[in-house]
Amino acid sequence: MIDSVSQPPLARRGLLFILSSPSGAGKSTIARMLLEADEQICLSVSVTTRPPRPGEIDGVHYHFIDETEFHRLVDDHEMMEWAKVFGHYYGTPKAQVKQGLRDGQDFLFDIDWQGTQQLYQRAEGDVVRVFILPPSLDELHRRLRSRNTDSEEVIAGRMARAQDEISHWDGYDFVVINDNVESCFTKVQQILNSERMRRARQTGLIDYVRDLMNPSDE
Ligand code: ADP
Ligand code: 5GP
Repeated sequence: MIDSVSQPPLARRGLLFILSSPSGAGKSTIARMLLEADEQICLSVSVTTRPPRPGEIDGVHYHFIDETEFHRLVDDHEMMEWAKVFGHYYGTPKAQVKQGLRDGQDFLFDIDWQGTQQLYQRAEGDVVRVFILPPSLDELHRRLRSRNTDSEEVIAGRMARAQDEISHWDGYDFVVINDNVESCFTKVQQILNSERMRRARQTGLIDYVRDLMNPSDE
């Protein structure tokens, strides 16, 4: 039913919504759910020098590029942030994000703590940082194996790095434990929706409130 007194949505600035976690804690799962459920947010597609995993599509999950191209992007200052993770380079190209933010587009980032620090330094006011923790290290190990995408050697490397990654929990605005995937997802959605309502992000508010206070000006 159309409500005759309802207003069009107020203009607002987009935000950079960062999800980080030790590998295997579930950030890709939560990210996928968020992208399916929410039309106002899109994935910031990173570039990486890592080879694609089965099922990964170039341009959708990552832009898969070689090291020469990666270093060119860094040297030409076309990267918003970048890091070397598990022996491969990962980074966020600037171009896609800048205009989108002004148009009210939100971007989801699945990046590690190093990229989070760089994004925060560059765009503090636009960034919302969420860290996802596993319920236990045993469960983290189980999830990494259940994903069926990595060899035992790669899984051992990810487990060895997990505690180092967890130690960066205090560089985030929000921390959510992914015990149950549905409740974790709900909490992440609540964070996103609250952050959208911050006064500083609602760029249409000034005109809206002016009209409320001076109805005769219309
Ligand atoms: P990450 O992106 O953090 O590396 P994934 O999202 O790929 O982690 O999750 C790792 C594995 O754990 C996947 O197989 C996923 O289906 C599973 N998983 C994610 N969240 C939960 C949960 N709350 N309970 C059980 N399994 C989960
Ligand atoms: P994966 O190879 O499992 O897709 O990602 C490995 C790690 O790299 C994850 O911790 C992921 O968050 C991180 N990562 C993915 N893209 C980027 C990026 O653009 N920048 C940074 N800094 N980290 C990234």
